[in-house]
Amino acid sequence: MHTSALVLFSGGQDSTTCLAHALERYQRVETIAFDYRQRHSVELDARRVVLQEIRKQFPAWTLKLGEDHLLDLAVLGAVSETSLTRDTAFKMEASGLPNTFVPGRNLLFLTLAAAVAYRRDLQVIVTGVCEADFSGYPDCRDDTMKAMQLALSLGMDKRYLIETPLMWIDKAATWAMAFDLGQRSGVAQGGQKLVDLIVEHTHTCYLGDRTHRHVWGYGCGACPACELRKRGFDRFAAPAD
Ligand code: ZN
Repeated sequence: MHTSALVLFSGGQDSTTCLAHALERYQRVETIAFDYRQRHSVELDARRVVLQEIRKQFPAWTLKLGEDHLLDLAVLGAVSETSLTRDTAFKMEASGLPNTFVPGRNLLFLTLAAAVAYRRDLQVIVTGVCEADFSGYPDCRDDTMKAMQLALSLGMDKRYLIETPLMWIDKAATWAMAFDLGQRSGVAQGGQKLVDLIVEHTHTCYLGDRTHRHVWGYGCGACPACELRKRGFDRFAAPAD
């Protein structure tokens, strides 16, 4: 029986939903993120605010929410030439991957997360990777996660579970999952409260735009991340008929 988890928490919509998932499911939950000199520190600011708001609005979850770990990973920015760490425009590479792909990023994140989980005696590593995502990042695939789970468990001689609650669902279903988790939080209108919190405080936009507010949150409205978030929210919010 698993009772504790470490959530890879970037401050975006997906990882905030994963955090809610872990808080609903486990007794002790800690969070981790990496500063790899992202082009915008907006994400790192967002995660502080999201954690604050969760503590403020969801008392039952606050009791389970433990330490937050922020690891310096500047070396990742130094070895990769991508539009997430450099000031270059987004485009598709000849490989078929967008130039937002940071090779090995998730592999590094999971390895470091497992090292922290080892030290903190946390059993489950929760990550918001998704195969239904537009980007097709190979380090977000289910096969990669299974291989990492095996490698980390063998390499650290500890049985890790890598949990990926969003692996097979699209963004509309991610919003619906957040609503459902909020409903089960014990807070009145918790579903709407969690959706509102995600809209207002999480950050997804590749350009780091926090000036344009839409019904689905802040962002430029045009980059691939904004498009995906907007389309998902529209389908989630559309009245069923
Ligand atoms: Zn954007």
